[in-house]
Amino acid sequence: MFEYAPAPESRSVVDIAPSYGLFIDGEFVSPASSGGVFKTVNPATEEVLAEVSTAGPEDVDRAVAAARRAAGPWSALPGAERAKYLFRIARIVQERSRELAVLESLDNGKPIRESRDVDLPLAAAHFFYYAGWADKLRHAGFGDNPRPLGVAAQVIPWNFPMLMLAWKIAPALATGNTVVLKPAETTPLSALFFADVCRQAELPPGVVNIVTGAGETGRTLVEHAGVDKVAFTGSTEVGRQIARSVAGTRKRLTLELGGKAANIVFDDAPIDQAVEGIVNGIFFNQGHVCCAGSRLLIQESVYDEVIEALKRRMATLRVGDPLDKNTDIGAINSAEQLARIRTLSDIGAEEGAERWSPPCELPAQGFWFAPTIFTGVTQAHRIAREEIFGPVLSVLTFRTPAEAIEKANNTPYGLSAGIWTEKGSQILAVADKLRAGVVWANTFNKFDPTSPFGGYKESGYGREGGRHGLEAYLA
Ligand code: NAD
Repeated sequence: MFEYAPAPESRSVVDIAPSYGLFIDGEFVSPASSGGVFKTVNPATEEVLAEVSTAGPEDVDRAVAAARRAAGPWSALPGAERAKYLFRIARIVQERSRELAVLESLDNGKPIRESRDVDLPLAAAHFFYYAGWADKLRHAGFGDNPRPLGVAAQVIPWNFPMLMLAWKIAPALATGNTVVLKPAETTPLSALFFADVCRQAELPPGVVNIVTGAGETGRTLVEHAGVDKVAFTGSTEVGRQIARSVAGTRKRLTLELGGKAANIVFDDAPIDQAVEGIVNGIFFNQGHVCCAGSRLLIQESVYDEVIEALKRRMATLRVGDPLDKNTDIGAINSAEQLARIRTLSDIGAEEGAERWSPPCELPAQGFWFAPTIFTGVTQAHRIAREEIFGPVLSVLTFRTPAEAIEKANNTPYGLSAGIWTEKGSQILAVADKLRAGVVWANTFNKFDPTSPFGGYKESGYGREGGRHGLEAYLA
């Protein structure tokens, strides 16, 4: 059972609640069948943080039934009433954001500076933003009587556990849907903490339910006949399986999948600024970012200058303890992800690309990978085509804008891209031809609740964020 009590600063949430249950119908409950437990570890130390329940089919049934019971009364509330709950949740997330940031960094491995300054403020901002929409749906172009879909099954990945939760839950609740959310098995803790936030906000039971477990729990949830909407963020492979299972049912589906973004540096770009953007684009959150700028395209005439400045900057990056405020790159989220990054990195070297990392001492315990760039990469290399989802950058070159566009689009993905140039006309001309859901100009990895986010091609379909994010939850 999850028991939360406000505690002295020195005690972590993990000390307070060593084992966790599921959150169904407003209560933390044990799983129906005994023994369904998995461990979540701190990737920086490999220490077990907590034992978490695995939700089996009966638990998923209970959660969907609770969400169904709550759906009618919740959607019947005036929008202004739903807004009150969402504002309350947003404020509580803000008030408890220090604890949540520490929990997120412990469970995920990301630097505390990022969870404190990016993930948590943005998560709260999404609840504030969608709270503002809850009473304005009627005359906002969604038809005279916009109706919710009903029960939403939401499955999220481990790279931004709390932020992905906010992206999913805030628009669903604002539009009058109820949810059953499954966090990733390596990062379930902030979602369970969020369940306690819902209790504190006195959200009616059943409006938000959290079921924990691995892929099997996710599959049971999205295939459940009582679900009206499936929202999935994760790998393209699992997205494909879900699309197949949902096909032919009444369920509506949105998929936010992988990416292999091009970050394009033209010869007139402000180089220092571009280098900051390149570093942020690929090393932010250890590169565990679906829209990471993992392919750097440099115009040939500035290639040497950019690479030299980039290597100088990389040599200053600090890899280590996620809870240290000076850390730039934290731990890789899991042993499996580390193995995947190592394998693809070794394939890059075997295929003839030149690998470089700054000298850096990695801790003996935990899962770590030094920031790495590959130069001499061509489209034929696997590291130019496959998502690595780690701090590994593949560098390619181009001569003309047309060649940059061709190379940027030469990927099965289409989630994001970046352009670095002083010329406004160049930005507009190139952005228009890039098949990417988001194109940043002279910046990278900027997020805002008012902006839609989503992909083309194998990066998925549907949009989250902004007004578009509401459409995905309305009939
Ligand atoms: P994953 O697909 O393995 O897992 C994602 C979630 O799906 C987890 O909660 C997992 O337990 C669950 N799951 C696994 N198999 C399932 C099944 N058959 N049915 C239902 N649920 C299942 O992905 P991951 O490794 O956790 O995350 C990394 C991937 O997510 C990367 O490819 C990344 O690009 C993508 N991602 C995309 C976005 C986006 O907005 N486009 C955001 C973050 C991450």
